[in-house]
Amino acid sequence: MVLDPEKIKKDFPILNRKIHGKPLVYLDNAATTQKPLAVIEAIHHYYLNENSNIHRGVHTLSEQATLAYEGAREKIRAFIGAKETSEIIFVRGATEGINLIAQTYGRKFIGSGDEIVISTLEHHSNIVPWQILCEQVGAKLRVIPINDKGELLIEDLKKIINAKTKLMGITHVSNALGTIVPLKEIIKIAHEQNIPVVVDGAQAIPHLKVNVQELDADFYLFSGHKVYGPTGIGVVYGKKNFLEIMPPYQGGGDMISSVTFEKTEYNILPFKFEAGTPHIAGAIGLGVALDYLKTLDLEKVALYENELLSYALEKSSEMADLQIIGQSVDRAGVISFNLAQLHAHDVGTVLDRHGIAIRAGHHCAMPLMKRLGLEATCRVSFAVYNTKEDVDSLFKALQKTLEVLG
Ligand code: PMP
Repeated sequence: MVLDPEKIKKDFPILNRKIHGKPLVYLDNAATTQKPLAVIEAIHHYYLNENSNIHRGVHTLSEQATLAYEGAREKIRAFIGAKETSEIIFVRGATEGINLIAQTYGRKFIGSGDEIVISTLEHHSNIVPWQILCEQVGAKLRVIPINDKGELLIEDLKKIINAKTKLMGITHVSNALGTIVPLKEIIKIAHEQNIPVVVDGAQAIPHLKVNVQELDADFYLFSGHKVYGPTGIGVVYGKKNFLEIMPPYQGGGDMISSVTFEKTEYNILPFKFEAGTPHIAGAIGLGVALDYLKTLDLEKVALYENELLSYALEKSSEMADLQIIGQSVDRAGVISFNLAQLHAHDVGTVLDRHGIAIRAGHHCAMPLMKRLGLEATCRVSFAVYNTKEDVDSLFKALQKTLEVLG
C-alpha cells in the first residue's frame, strides 16, 4: 500500500464519531471532504491570534493577516502550477467561480448568435450560469454527448464546435460518474479554433495532480471544501491575458485603485476580482489543506484511491443485484450504482442506520441522469482517509439493505 490510511484517518477527528451507535464510514467525499486537524487548528489559530482585516491596515494584526492570506494564494498558485499569484482569485467556491467567468468574460465577449459548448457530464453549476448568460446575450448552448459508459464523444465535439463557438465549459472529473475527461486533448481541439476553455476542476483537484499550464487551461476553478479545506472558499485560476481584459465581477472595497463620483479606476490583478472583505480564515485554511495533501504526495494519493476504487469495483461485480452506472475506463474515486429495484434514497437511508454516509439522488446533474434514463443513483466517493475496511462495511451493509428492503 502506498499510503498508511489508518495513520491518515487519525488526522481527521470527525472520523471518530459514531452514527446510530456505529463507527462513521464517510463515503460522501464528492459532496464535501472532512477536514484534517491541521486545517481546523489553522482557522482556530487565525481567529485567536491574527484576526483582522487585510490589505488596508497599518497595524501588526492586519499585516499578519494579509501575509497569511497572500501566503495562501501563493500556496494555491504553486499547487496548481500557475505562473503568477495575480492569476489566482479567491471566490466562495466552484459555483461562484463559474458565475464570475460567465458574468465578466461572458457578458463582454459573447453575444447574440454565439455558441457556448458544455458537456452532458456537467454539474448544474457548469450549466445554469451559461444558460443565464445565453438568455442575457442571446447566445446558444451546445452540448457534447456521451456514450453509455459515461465517456465524452470527442468526434462529436469536433462536429459541434464552429466559428460561432466562443467558449467551452467542461468538467475535469464527473461528480456523478467519476469519469476523467481527456482534458488536454479537448483543450487542444478547442484552441485550434481559438476557443477559450473553462475547466470545472471541483472533483479533480482532490484526486489528480493538476498543472494548469501543462493543461493549457484558460480558466480552472475549484472549491476548497472538496479538497479538505473549509467551506465558503474556492479558487478561480485565469490566464493573465484573459483576466486583464475582463471587467470586474462585483464592485466595492479593495477592487479599486481610486474612486471619484465621476469615475472609478480598478485595482490590479487579482484584487480587481475580490470586492469586499474576503473569507480570510477560509483562504488560510485552504492553504493548510493543500500543504497537508502535499505532505501525503498527490501522486501517492491518486494511486491509493485507485487501489480503493478497484477493490470496491471488484466487490460490486460480486453482487448480482448491484448495477454500476458509468463504466469509464479513466475514472476517479466515484462509484454510482443502483441496488436491485430499490430507490436510491431508501438505500442511502438504510446505509445511514449502519453509520455509512453516501449520496443518493441526481447529484446536481439532472441532464446527465436523463441521458442515462435514470432519476437517481447511489454514489460512493472516496477520499484519502477511506480504507478497504470501509469498503467491506459498505458491502456488508448493502447486503443487509437488500435483505431488509429487497
Ligand atoms: N462542479 C462539480 C463537478 C461539483 O461536483 C460541484 C459540487 N458538487 C460543483 C461544481 C459545485 O461546487 P460548490 O457547490 O462547492 O460551489
